[in-house]
Amino acid sequence: MKIDVRQIHPDGLVLEEALGASQYELETDIVKFLSPIKVRAAISKITNAVTADLSLNASMHMNCSRCLEEFEVNFEKKLRFSYPVDKSEAVIDLGPDIREAIIFDYPIKPLCSPDCKGLCLKCGKNLNEGICDCN
Ligand SMILES: [Zn+2]
Ligand SMILES: [Zn+2]
Repeated sequence: MKIDVRQIHPDGLVLEEALGASQYELETDIVKFLSPIKVRAAISKITNAVTADLSLNASMHMNCSRCLEEFEVNFEKKLRFSYPVDKSEAVIDLGPDIREAIIFDYPIKPLCSPDCKGLCLKCGKNLNEGICDCN
């Protein structure tokens, strides 16, 4: 997502864009996106600084670190970035900052629910679906 500083009106500018997760290298072994990330940016400019207020919205799919089942997470985040404006630079790329803010929130050990029972260490049964015969 890029802002052309010359296109920011005195009363601001609103941009909406759908960012592709692969384009921004947002997918990892445990996090997948089935649809693009929706971004709405309200941009304003004062003398020599540009401020962008962003709302991000995406649906992530993760694998539970206990039971290994895939589950969906609705990701919503509001961000505010400020950039100094320098006359030689007419375009501001928000991409790297957006990417960093999304990745920062990835859990190290995702859980499908806080009380996920995980898998039986002996037979591998998913204990959320019922108990096994091991004990
Ligand atoms: Zn789980
Ligand atoms: Zn078992």
